[in-house]
Amino acid sequence: MTTTPQSLIRLTAAQMAAKLAAGEITSVELTQAHLDRIAAVDDTINAFLHVNAGQALETAAGVDKLRAAGGTEAESLHPLAGVPIAIKDLIVTKGQPTTAGSKMLQGWMSPYDATVIEKIRAARLPILGKTNLDEFAMGSSTEHSAFGPTRNPWDTGRIPGGSGGGSAAAVAAFEAPLALGTDTGGSIRQPGAVTGTVGTKPTYGSVSRYGAIAMASSLDQIGPVARTVEDAALLHELIGGHDPRDSTSLPEQVPAFAEFAANHDVAGLRIGVIKQLQGEGYQAGVLARFQEALDTLREAGAEIVEVDCPSFDYAVGSYYLIMPSEASSNLARYDGVRYGARVLPEGGPLTIERVMGATRAAGFGDEVKRRIILGTYALSAGYYDAYYGSAQKVRTLIQRDFDAAFEAADVLISPTSPTVAFPLGEKLDDPMAMYLNDVTTIPANLAGVPGISVPGGLSEGLPVGIQFLAPARQDARVYHAAGALEKLLNDAAESPLWAQIPALVPAAGAGPDASRPAAAAPAFTPEVGGAK
Ligand code: GLN
Repeated sequence: MTTTPQSLIRLTAAQMAAKLAAGEITSVELTQAHLDRIAAVDDTINAFLHVNAGQALETAAGVDKLRAAGGTEAESLHPLAGVPIAIKDLIVTKGQPTTAGSKMLQGWMSPYDATVIEKIRAARLPILGKTNLDEFAMGSSTEHSAFGPTRNPWDTGRIPGGSGGGSAAAVAAFEAPLALGTDTGGSIRQPGAVTGTVGTKPTYGSVSRYGAIAMASSLDQIGPVARTVEDAALLHELIGGHDPRDSTSLPEQVPAFAEFAANHDVAGLRIGVIKQLQGEGYQAGVLARFQEALDTLREAGAEIVEVDCPSFDYAVGSYYLIMPSEASSNLARYDGVRYGARVLPEGGPLTIERVMGATRAAGFGDEVKRRIILGTYALSAGYYDAYYGSAQKVRTLIQRDFDAAFEAADVLISPTSPTVAFPLGEKLDDPMAMYLNDVTTIPANLAGVPGISVPGGLSEGLPVGIQFLAPARQDARVYHAAGALEKLLNDAAESPLWAQIPALVPAAGAGPDASRPAAAAPAFTPEVGGAK
């Protein structure tokens, strides 16, 4: 069979890797096919904030040269060598801008690579560019990006989830086969759910956070975004492992996750349905797909049990005290003095306080300001025990609920998101409605346990995600369960869900989507940018 650029980009990352290893395609061809796809559709999708074709093709050419030369160097290439990847723009990369989706860091170039980027470079995956996100990863729709929203490739009038909507949309739209995301309260899993892709939040501490711009340090985790469970597992194997530069990094070796993803036998697997994560507030179509997933797993021999996690009802409340508290401290570094934007106040004396005030007023968007104010308030003397202290107690109770649930079940299951992708703008002015999107994903971050979202079918033509959760350090179990469900659902369908996505190639001669907001080119010129 001849492979055209159009069919190339629709392969899974594992298939691409196999074709590269067999010499059937070159990495330059593969990388160029993705760059062409980005050029064709990203005016509409806006998944990328920055594309670096030169660097990507250079890496690709290097892999091709090594392969062509043969010998031990070619043999010792990483299995994913030459497969392109996109990076959420919250992860610092040398030689490419890192903005965190914020005007505060517009034009800033990191002087160093994150640990995960070092690993990706060492394994020679061409880095296509940096993907869009809600500003400093705060949001569930990517609408809080300072550079315009990303659009969901399934329906460009809808959100791609957030904060990692750019990575998920890029993978769903075949602009990249793999991407990295970060998940503090669901920002890998929820975008995965609403774009029909797979995303994993690893066990806290199992993937280095060195070089991930901090949002809430006790919750943040970098993880893989892909179209299949196997691809996510392969990428997870590459980025995981101990890092002495991250003080919370776990010491152990990374298991062979892809082997667990390939084990489709669920006979006897105890799957716990979380009583609190269903029912009111969940769309009927989401619940219907969830029930079908349970039936499918039961028929395949899994033992479905119900588990009670009463403290999960307070997870969103607890998260929206802990996360803003940590963020208010982490974001104090954007002071207009050390790096990033600097805005000078109009008139009056040029004091540090006034420069800081003017910079933060102009550099941060509304959602970031809202959370800084919330966090500063929660941490202030007199309120600390009532808010932050209580939230930490709830966090402990949630961890105990998980401990009890994992006595009764090997993995837990829930819908990844209570709804399918909603229309752009629908929740933008209602922070509470936006926060409630994360009701299913937040408990895992509060407890540090791993979770995955895997496609569970469509509701009204839009993807529904199924979430699996496992005990800390047992990430292999989420790959096993998700890999099995993916296989069972694919066997029952004509094609995998991701292959059913509507074609997005604009008609010949069509210009960029006229409805795309002009915010993609913000008129903000920091007085000092890119300095470090
Ligand atoms: N949507 C959640 C929030 O707004 C999660 C963000 C994240 O995981 N980075 O906080």
